[in-house]
Amino acid sequence: MSQSKTDTKAGALVYRYHDGLYVNFTNRCPTACRFCIKFTWKMQYRSHDLKLNGHEPSTAEVLDAIDSAGRERAFDEIVFCGYGESTYRLADMLAVCEELKRRTPRARRRLNTIGLGNLINGRSIAAELARGLDSVSVSLNTADPRQWVEMHNPLEPFAKDGFESVKQFIRECAAVIGDTTVTAVKRAGVDLDACRRLAESLGACWRERPYLDDYESK
Ligand code: SF4
Repeated sequence: MSQSKTDTKAGALVYRYHDGLYVNFTNRCPTACRFCIKFTWKMQYRSHDLKLNGHEPSTAEVLDAIDSAGRERAFDEIVFCGYGESTYRLADMLAVCEELKRRTPRARRRLNTIGLGNLINGRSIAAELARGLDSVSVSLNTADPRQWVEMHNPLEPFAKDGFESVKQFIRECAAVIGDTTVTAVKRAGVDLDACRRLAESLGACWRERPYLDDYESK
């Protein structure tokens, strides 16, 4: 694979998908989701190497990578979504958002998240997110608390209260950000109707996602 201007030796800081530019801010996750393609695809995503090898890019590096990608081709949206949970980098993500309002005011800013940002940061973060983001997409995947633990395989600090915290996070984002979508990966044994009803009861929109697996080429 050739290295583009938006990559470092540690891996891609940004990558494209459809009309969006995606930011790979961290490889840290509070979960080891059973459906996550980072395991089967060995940290690759459609010709991009998202393995940061312990390097957490600075805000300047991320902004440089975004600028460089924008000079190559325009994008409609910037999405904080790599092989890791961006709310571990909350302050840095919000600093990048603040600068992007000036540099790329027409591009929307979205966070894709597993929804554990409140527990990760030890406080409710929705109001802070609302200052930088236009939308949030939360990967909830089930309405069943026991199945949530089975599917997401959380690290110990997130196992006991994780599911309730994700629901609260969704409720808060829907209240203060507005454009909040709950998603679920289509998998056998998951009651998607129940998940949709739960999403709507929390004030969020709803979207099913296909299960990407190793049948799809990288
Ligand atoms: S939080 Fe996201 S990147 Fe991390 S294991 Fe789950 S799906 Fe994969």
